[in-house]
Formats: sequence, C-alpha cells, structure tokens
Amino acid sequence: MNAGTKWLIQDAYTNGGESIKEIALRLELAEAEVSRALKGVRKQNELPAKEASEVFRIVLVTYDPEWQKALIAKLRTTPLYLDWRRAVLRRDRYRCQECGNTKGVQVDHIYPLSAIVHNRRINSLEEAAECELIWRVNNGRTLCPTCHKRTETYGAKAQQYWRNDEIDE
Ligand SMILES: [Zn+2]
Repeated sequence: MNAGTKWLIQDAYTNGGESIKEIALRLELAEAEVSRALKGVRKQNELPAKEASEVFRIVLVTYDPEWQKALIAKLRTTPLYLDWRRAVLRRDRYRCQECGNTKGVQVDHIYPLSAIVHNRRINSLEEAAECELIWRVNNGRTLCPTCHKRTETYGAKAQQYWRNDEIDE
C-alpha cells in the first residue's frame, strides 16, 4: 500500500469518523488492509470528546458559577423557556403577584433555576429540557422588578437553595 492510500485511510478514520468497514468499501480494499494501515492510530474524534465530557463533569462537580450562569443565560433564550414564561405570564394576567404592578414584569422560578441546575446536576440544554421541575408552570411567578429583588431567591441569594445532595420532588 502506498503512502497516499495510507494517509487517506488514516484521515477518513481519525478526522472523517468513518469506520474500518466504511473505508474498506469506499476505497475498495480488504478490511484487513485498512486495519493494518490504522495500526497504532487512535480515532481522534472519539477520544477527545470523551475526555472533554469528563472535564465538563469535573467543572460541574466543583460548580463553576460562571459556567452555570452561561448555561442558564442560554436556557433563557430557548423556545421552551419562552413558552414557559408566556404560560406563567398568562396565568398571572401579566401582574406582579406581590403588588399587582404590570410594568416591566418578570417571570421568576420559585424554586430557583440556578438551584435546579445545581442540585439536579444539569449539564446541558438537553438535560434541562428533560427536567420537568424547570417547566412546571406552578414553579413560576410573575413579579415586578422591585418585588423580584425582594425575594429570598433573587440573584446570588438563590445559592442558599443549593445542595450537595440531589433533591427528590
Ligand atoms: Zn411587585
């Protein structure tokens, strides 16, 4: 086998994500030949992804607050979140549930979103989408900015709801 073919095989395997069988079919080679060309070659796009997810886990176990903020900020832009928000606003008729104000109302998670993300070990938007507690309309309330700031869970105050063990609700 010439060096060019070997390179093609290795590139298809490591960067193209093709299996030995697929490469053999495409290049009209025997699977054994393809295997030989790949001796000592690791499938790069598999290994770093696995390592990356482990690093991700470690970050989460130490609860990097910046990372959580980024996930929550992203979550708030998803259609699922906007639907939840709209459902809460409609139920509350767009009024602050504390003072009745209708100006600049915000939708708040009663059981704080950061605490859910933290306590449920939510890693990704996909996991958040599957977390029923986040999307429960009963866990939402409409508040004006003033009343929102007064809550026990506003901003960093929500951290008092963070636990090291998982909640079961
Ligand atoms: Zn209010």
